[in-house]
Amino acid sequence: MNHKHNTLEVGVAQVDITPDYPIRLSGYGSRRTESEGIIQRIWAKALAIGSETEEPVVVVTVENCGLPDELTEEIAHRVKQKTGLSRAHFVACFTHTHSAPCLTNAAPFLFSSDIPPEQQEKIYRYTRQLGDWLEEAALEALTNREPCQVQWSIGELDFAKNRRTQGGPAEHSLPMLQVTGEDGALRAVWASYACHCTTLAGTDNHICGDWAGYAQEAIQETNPGTTALISIGCGADANPASRMMPMPDRQQEVFQTRLAYAKEHGEALAQEVQRLLASNATPLSQTPTGSFERVNLPFDTLPTPDEWKARVAAGGAVGYHAQKHLERLQRGEPLQTELSYPVQTWTFGDELAIVFLASEVVVDYSLRLKHEFDAARLWVGAYANAFPGYIPSERVLAEGGYEGGDAMLYFGPPTRFAPGVEQLVVDAVHRLLPAEFLQ
Ligand SMILES: [Zn+2]
Repeated sequence: MNHKHNTLEVGVAQVDITPDYPIRLSGYGSRRTESEGIIQRIWAKALAIGSETEEPVVVVTVENCGLPDELTEEIAHRVKQKTGLSRAHFVACFTHTHSAPCLTNAAPFLFSSDIPPEQQEKIYRYTRQLGDWLEEAALEALTNREPCQVQWSIGELDFAKNRRTQGGPAEHSLPMLQVTGEDGALRAVWASYACHCTTLAGTDNHICGDWAGYAQEAIQETNPGTTALISIGCGADANPASRMMPMPDRQQEVFQTRLAYAKEHGEALAQEVQRLLASNATPLSQTPTGSFERVNLPFDTLPTPDEWKARVAAGGAVGYHAQKHLERLQRGEPLQTELSYPVQTWTFGDELAIVFLASEVVVDYSLRLKHEFDAARLWVGAYANAFPGYIPSERVLAEGGYEGGDAMLYFGPPTRFAPGVEQLVVDAVHRLLPAEFLQ
């Protein structure tokens, strides 16, 4: 029906964010030495959409395990000061690769032990550098804007598997946005997939983008001159299929096997992107409008001081987490009773709505939102803006386990969420999205 191919102003940028020094990598608590080298360089990519007369939007995708809320806020603020871009029109998404540097205040209890000061210094340094690089990518994308055609489509890809329950729910959709210049050349591809970026494991200690990095690389190799951006959907309870496959006995072979799987998953994604590029995509003719709000998600009943003490005595991850909270209490500082959770949406007129949920969101959210809104015009993203921990659905919260609350030991909050967390998040999305997107 829609034959008008309006142009939108779009700019793309990329910045190499690979540290040139060894540094502790995030993602696995058992890995406690600095990185041993670089297998693949890691990148921040940025896409700016919209002209100056309407306010543009900027998405930055970052190859990192997770961006702390305060870092995203700082970058959004710096970009706003220089360009006037509002908070709702800036979003930072991370690929959740478990083979990228630790950042200050991102899952601060991950290692269940204090990080030695000389290693912590490098984490502070890299976090500052990353802030500068992300700002640079956003500003450069805004500067690079030129008339382009923007289209989107939804593909399918099946390497994401539910990691809590064999055969449990997983999402296989691959929403993709493509940008073509007036010369007909492909400028950018941005795709989102709901899966952990954990093909490589805690025994590997090299910088690498994992499957998302290899997907970007493969898309760019097949389409020279194109910048590929990968972000992640509600894949908190999904792992790549290869994580559940048997591995060789010898450690060196295990590493090579995992690396081959990471490339294979990345190439599978790139192939699906190529199929979508050759198919009929839906044109987007309207500059997106952003909305942003914070919703407070209450934690469950906090342990009493005596309970904290008993936990300290238990030692291990439980003991470390409890010790940190006891110290807080002894300093007279209040414990956190709720989480300030950012929820953001972009709508391209009535053509497409993109939801950006923060942190590690389980698949149930995406399935529910696609049921309550028109799935044909909805893109549900997660791993955006902040990295406070897992966001369980009511089902996963009740089931418990790692994503249901146990992982809080590594992220820092005092305890699991109180019941009702799912409804609070879904209600926020309903407040932000126009009614015309309802099912
Ligand atoms: Zn995770």
